Amino acid sequence: MTTSVRPPQKYAVSTLHGKDGERPKVMIIYTGGTIGMMENPESKTLEPFNFDHLLENVPKLRLCMLPRAKAKTNVNNLINLHCNMTTSVRPPQKYAVSTLHGKDGERPKVMIIYTGGTIGMMENPESKTLEPFNFDHLLENVPKLRLLDIDIESVEFVNPIDSSSMNPGHWQQIAKVIEDNYDNCDGFVVLHGTDTMAYTASALSYMLQGLNKPVIITGSQLPIGDVRTDGEENLITALQIASARNCDGNMMVREVAILFEDFLWRGNRSTKHSSDNFCAFSSNNYPALASIGLGIHFNKDVLLKPDMNGPLKVHYGIDTNVMVIDLFPGIQENVVRHMFHTPGVKGIIIKTFGAGNGPNDPWFIREIQEAVERGIVVVNISQCQNGHVNPGLYAAGLEISKTGVISGKDLTSEAAITKLMHLFGQTDDIEAVKEQMVLPICGEMASEDAD
Ligand code: ASP
Repeated sequence: MTTSVRPPQKYAVSTLHGKDGERPKVMIIYTGGTIGMMENPESKTLEPFNFDHLLENVPKLRLCMLPRAKAKTNVNNLINLHCNMTTSVRPPQKYAVSTLHGKDGERPKVMIIYTGGTIGMMENPESKTLEPFNFDHLLENVPKLRLLDIDIESVEFVNPIDSSSMNPGHWQQIAKVIEDNYDNCDGFVVLHGTDTMAYTASALSYMLQGLNKPVIITGSQLPIGDVRTDGEENLITALQIASARNCDGNMMVREVAILFEDFLWRGNRSTKHSSDNFCAFSSNNYPALASIGLGIHFNKDVLLKPDMNGPLKVHYGIDTNVMVIDLFPGIQENVVRHMFHTPGVKGIIIKTFGAGNGPNDPWFIREIQEAVERGIVVVNISQCQNGHVNPGLYAAGLEISKTGVISGKDLTSEAAITKLMHLFGQTDDIEAVKEQMVLPICGEMASEDAD
């Protein structure tokens, strides 16, 4: 070789499934650049480092060479157990994360609440499906947590779940953990499957009244143990956001938010829009609370500014006697009638076309009218991802609004259904539910227009 190039460092990188001797061989040619840089502790500048630095920070490269069962390594970062939690949640595992820059006693403290989801899943070697794993798996795959200037405590569900199994009981558990640890922590990171993340974020936003600390929900599209995982960056960025303060010394984010890939979104404005892209969430009616690039750029004007003086008051009540009817051309009268006559149902979200329109068949209008007269709260939201219900715009929408249906304005489906659950969880007074349904509780809907 020429003298200006180090001798090649040969290391085997194999596929997870390939047979010995049949593995592809790839050579990484490392030339420098930010990817392999490290901060010089004295000058604080980024300097190119040797290639070991890169490998040391991506231990998962070694997974390519091992059968999965042997990929586990021991990381002794779980120190002592303390506190009594509800029986369905493991005791918080306190583990010290050492600081590079902070002074002892001055580091922010963030609690991770691990509920399950892909971020902590592993492949079942027999069925080849992803199954929830225990939290140790997550920690051992993110050695970089030690580099953060944050004290971290963690609480995990005893049985981590795929978020498709998430239900209001789980929301109450998460809220309880936050309530119990609220005074001790600066912020919270909830690790959650992506499938129902927007529902959990919306529900928690209504439940945690008076919240003035960050509750950042994140997850990933690929398991954290996967070589190409997005989970590691999401977890680390979520921790940084959950510990960020503004120049007044208050927590920067004081609401429930979803951090995913390049953006921080208001939780009750978010929707999962992709089952494949790393950028899996969007908020089509509200701007990003922060964008993630070289730095974390907060959009301070759009962050919620809750009253700093009030205490956290958790509203645990949730009533699940609610449902969503998604209209489609050709929807049958007998189907709609059965839905509106579902025993026990107290509130119905109708997802209408465009700006709040529906079929002008007399039977359709009559079914809604009768449901309203029976005391069912019927809320009109749009199937469109962007924009809001504007029932006066077309005759097809006006007819619906004359029945006494209330406008859900620009609510997402997730925010609308969880808001109904929350409101009926507090009161059975239908007029009170209707009144509050059209007013924002915590930034989930526009405060004016859209009627
Ligand atoms: N099915 C998984 C879940 O929601 C998907 C994910 O985590 O992204 O738990």
